[in-house]
Amino acid sequence: MNNQEKSPKFEGVICEIPNIAVDYFHDLTSKAFFLSHCHADHMQGLDSPKLIEYLHSQSGIYIYSSKATKNILQNWPKYEPLVQFIKIVELNHPTQVKMTNENQLTNEKASFIVTLIPSGHCIGSIMFLFEGLFGTVLYTGDFRIAQGDSKKLKAFKLNPHHPDYGFKSIDHIYLDCTFCYRNAKDLPMRDECMELIFTHVKDWIIKGPEFKIFLSLAARFGSEFIFVELNKRLGIRVHVSKLKYDIYKQFPEIAAAVTLNGKDTPIHACSDSNKCSLKIPCMADRGLQVRPIRPTTQWHLYKNISEKNAAVKDQGFIRVLFSMHSSLEEIQDLIHCLKPGKITPISKPDVILLSQIEDLLKCPVQFPKTREQTSVPHHGFKKRKVN
Ligand SMILES: [Zn+2]
Ligand SMILES: [Zn+2]
Repeated sequence: MNNQEKSPKFEGVICEIPNIAVDYFHDLTSKAFFLSHCHADHMQGLDSPKLIEYLHSQSGIYIYSSKATKNILQNWPKYEPLVQFIKIVELNHPTQVKMTNENQLTNEKASFIVTLIPSGHCIGSIMFLFEGLFGTVLYTGDFRIAQGDSKKLKAFKLNPHHPDYGFKSIDHIYLDCTFCYRNAKDLPMRDECMELIFTHVKDWIIKGPEFKIFLSLAARFGSEFIFVELNKRLGIRVHVSKLKYDIYKQFPEIAAAVTLNGKDTPIHACSDSNKCSLKIPCMADRGLQVRPIRPTTQWHLYKNISEKNAAVKDQGFIRVLFSMHSSLEEIQDLIHCLKPGKITPISKPDVILLSQIEDLLKCPVQFPKTREQTSVPHHGFKKRKVN
């Protein structure tokens, strides 16, 4: 395809704060790590034995995350050894992060404030708001925040007790630009998508005991809302894998909506793979009538499906639009509210050019810096210029 612009991959670099790594765990010189949520593309290097070795060999280096994210990891066997290094930060509570490196210029310990803001993407997902001598920087991680809701978020307010004082001035936003293009102008909210899923599930399973639903999911986490809603409306639990079940046990509302017993339920989400599949992994096909439902967004947008609220039949699947990322209008709403000095996309489809994002968000946009570009030795934080 013409007109593509390959963006360097985001490698957890926050230019303003040397020595930290966000959603990237391969740089074993980092003095603090931050994990926004449990999706594979944000957990690169997190399961590496070298990371564990590094954390053991140092003192005072932690992975900062939300309580829910820690809960997920401590029930996920391969991440269990990491749990002792995870520091929970309370949501919406500005918290000081002390770095272990001495600032050689001022002889002060380098430190800054981080605030975790729920990001509405999947269980445990948060944004990081960093504040320090370097200024104010927001890392959105992946997010879905409804239009009009950005301005309600307390962490962005200059004074949470006086909302009319306005918003903090944000110097730089590291932004989820997954759907920052015109085709994704508006996307139905989860409640609307749920109506469609509910209808397709109900109409199928009432036909008889051999009629089964298979929810073929594109990400390991993020569809819990569907399970909970199906359980509320139908009183039926969804079959999930042992790995997910052990994790969901920590979250009472989700735990009540899932089961380990596949024989007891017509609704299955028991695959641990995110690949498209028409088959229910826990059952032999013989004699079954399976309706596979695939909640997706990209497929609808790339195919330019104009009726975004419709279920579309495609290669045996029923594809239902269900977005865990904000639409263009929702992104614009956040940016309009915070008016950042500049933006770095942390995820951007190659078909969207930086200039297009600039145009849509009316803000300077730059490529993410790679680790290599920032590997020059430094001595603590740069002081913010005060005019
Ligand atoms: Zn994600
Ligand atoms: Zn199953």
